[in-house]
Amino acid sequence: MLILYTAKNGIYTDLKDSYTNEKELINKNIYVNITNRCPCACTFCLRNTKELDESNNLWLDTEPTVQEITAEFEKYDLNKFNEIIFCGFGEPLVRLEDLLEVAKYLKNRNSNIKIRVNTNGLADLVHGKETAPLLKGLIDTVSISLNASNAEEYLNLTRSKFGIESYDAMLKFAVACKDYVPNVVLTVVDCIGKEEIDTCQAICDRIGVTLRVRPFE
Ligand code: SF4
Repeated sequence: MLILYTAKNGIYTDLKDSYTNEKELINKNIYVNITNRCPCACTFCLRNTKELDESNNLWLDTEPTVQEITAEFEKYDLNKFNEIIFCGFGEPLVRLEDLLEVAKYLKNRNSNIKIRVNTNGLADLVHGKETAPLLKGLIDTVSISLNASNAEEYLNLTRSKFGIESYDAMLKFAVACKDYVPNVVLTVVDCIGKEEIDTCQAICDRIGVTLRVRPFE
């Protein structure tokens, strides 16, 4: 079960293997893999390629418990790490309470450790409540997949089980996070075209968050 890992050029390495090379590890981003579950079925997501599901080492046969995750962290000196990122194979905020418990444990061990959540931004719909306030003091950066400049295209891409209301819920979550999380970033991939990226930039400017255009992997 691969819970903590490093990533380079699309290759995932178990943290315990990276950790043997101390020099390599300095300033590394450490990723936390806690679930395969997700309310979306994005057309570009590796989770939806069945062969990859079974062979990819990020696939979890069972979800690690909070105790199992913190036991993994106990093996390491957190000062060596640049940022801890809840990312995983699925949507980490599906396990909101567990994620917050792990974040509390990490902040208790080192209050300066930076914690980021990479998310689809649909936690409010998943949990049926406003979730952004719960991130206060625990999460330093929320990186939300904007994916597209409008609700229809977003739904075409994400195939969210919550349907057309997903896009507005994601944007509402992003705006709410601004009150509780120091850095709120929306992301798109670079292959969507300049016009679409410009429109996404305008959306980010309007709601007052940063847009990050990331390479499509
Ligand atoms: S939101 Fe992320 S994890 Fe979920 S289907 Fe889309 S790409 Fe995959």
